[in-house]
Amino acid sequence: MKTLKLILGDQLNLDHSWFKIVNDNTIFCLFEMRQETDYVTHHIQKIVGFFAAMRHFAQSLEKAGHTVVYYKINDAKNTQSLTNNILQIIHENNIEQFEYQLPDEYRLDEQLKDFCSKLNIPYSVANTEHFLSERDTVAKLFEGKKQILMETFYRQMRKQYNILLEPDGKPIGGKWNYDADNRNKWKGTPIEPKHNAISNNLESIFEEVKVSGAKYFGNINAKEFNWPINLEQANTILDYFIQHSLPYFGQFQDAMSQKAQLLFHSRLSFALNIKLISPLYVVQKCIAAWLAKPALISLSQIEGFVRQIIGWREYMRGIYWWKMPEYETLNYFNHQTKLPEYFWTGNSKMNCVKNAVQNSLDNAYAHHIQRLMVTGNFTLLAGIDPSEVDNWYLGIYIDAIQWVEITNTRGMSQFADGGIVGSKPYISSANYIDKMSDYCGNCHYDKKLKYAKNACPFNSLYWHFYERNRPLLEKNNRIGMMYNVLNRMATDEKQKTLAQADYYLNHLEEL
Ligand SMILES: Cc1cc2nc3c(=O)[nH]c(=O)nc-3n(C[C@H](O)[C@H](O)[C@H](O)COP(=O)(O)OP(=O)(O)OC[C@H]3O[C@@H](n4cnc5c(N)ncnc54)[C@H](O)[C@@H]3O)c2cc1C
Ligand code: SF4
Repeated sequence: MKTLKLILGDQLNLDHSWFKIVNDNTIFCLFEMRQETDYVTHHIQKIVGFFAAMRHFAQSLEKAGHTVVYYKINDAKNTQSLTNNILQIIHENNIEQFEYQLPDEYRLDEQLKDFCSKLNIPYSVANTEHFLSERDTVAKLFEGKKQILMETFYRQMRKQYNILLEPDGKPIGGKWNYDADNRNKWKGTPIEPKHNAISNNLESIFEEVKVSGAKYFGNINAKEFNWPINLEQANTILDYFIQHSLPYFGQFQDAMSQKAQLLFHSRLSFALNIKLISPLYVVQKCIAAWLAKPALISLSQIEGFVRQIIGWREYMRGIYWWKMPEYETLNYFNHQTKLPEYFWTGNSKMNCVKNAVQNSLDNAYAHHIQRLMVTGNFTLLAGIDPSEVDNWYLGIYIDAIQWVEITNTRGMSQFADGGIVGSKPYISSANYIDKMSDYCGNCHYDKKLKYAKNACPFNSLYWHFYERNRPLLEKNNRIGMMYNVLNRMATDEKQKTLAQADYYLNHLEEL
């Protein structure tokens, strides 16, 4: 039967069973589309990176003997709409059967379901064969339960895949989680590994994007594009990470530095999220490296890394499929403020925000703690509308695909879900940022002051956040202690602090 099989831009898994046998009756199709470049304004590296990886993938399929129809962004035939492109190929090739892989975004899932319900040929849906859990694993585990905890899910995954377990099923080392060991400030030694050796000349794709009229922002060195665009390059990144960064990963996981934007993070998220590389493979390769060199890589480093991939990453996907589409409308604190302009320029007097935003504009990347405890922390304290925050995160990061972006942004970072992902809001004053980074030393603002002309905005906004959200948070027993401190604060001190925060909230664009 003449079959058309759709491959979405984040489904570049060469190991998929679809590709095991060459079948002359099967056409694979991939499209670069304005539909996908335009649903939010994207960083230029994200658009160019996706197109480059898709083109490389199509070439690999063709080399292996498969038939591929590929529409580039400016091809005359390209309707720029997913469903119109599919229909066009169905009619041109007398296609008798249509197949697609489960999309990871709700938006595309709905679009394809709706399309297929009106299609007059048979269709079927395949698994992406990428994730370690099913869409509904998290929902099944927690439905009806009072406590939704990533840790519970993570332990289940460790057991299911026999990862870091003793033969009797107990966790290796006696503990499931070494998070408490992962809180070191980075003092500048050992030297941060440089960005890995990948370099792709993607100038021609960059030119094509410019011609297409797609809107974009951010910076790019298209001659030396350093994100992986195929499996070989994803493996280069992984090997580099194992050799240079894994020995320090857990220990400095929460550290930030203006001298070293990447520190010991892997930069694997783009390759993972477009499915160039398998999460199980990544985890197994890192564990093999740890077993080979236990003196170099300690248990807490490897456990910290494994937890991110088989724990957080899979968990967020499960939460997404459990809670969408309502999830994207949640706004627990009813925040309505517009995102300040410096999120698009990096032009802020707050050194931490300036650094995290500039890194994001330059590299389409910021590591987890920059995303969570600098930009996310600030937008939450400042009461920015979570939809504005979501659109910024979804556009700026090369690894941002809604299932993993929104659960982290609206959930973990903005607490707009009222406590589904996290049990309390992730906020801090300058104290935490100073403890974990070298930002405060040369900042325009004074990290120690709550009120005064140059008082650090995080300090007063922190208390203002608790004060204004008292009815929503005071009964949360994980933060009751902060209300005790606030309640005991001298009246004058409290008034001045809240007045300073009010001033900053009214002059957000000037910070
Ligand atoms: C506000 C906010 C927005 C985020 N948006 C995204 C996003 O759009 N896409 C995305 O992939 N991650 C997102 N994250 C999670 C995390 O910050 C990134 O996965 C990580 O920074 C990617 O860099 P890395 O590959 O160097 O990660 P590493 O620190 O080296 O971690 C290894 C891998 O673990 C996984 N991982 C780590 N933390 C998480 C997490 N919280 N959720 C899911 N997977 C995780 C990623 O696959 C990552 O590649 C976000 C976090 C926050 C706080
Ligand atoms: S003083 Fe405040 S604004 Fe400046 S870097 Fe430190 S936390 Fe950020």
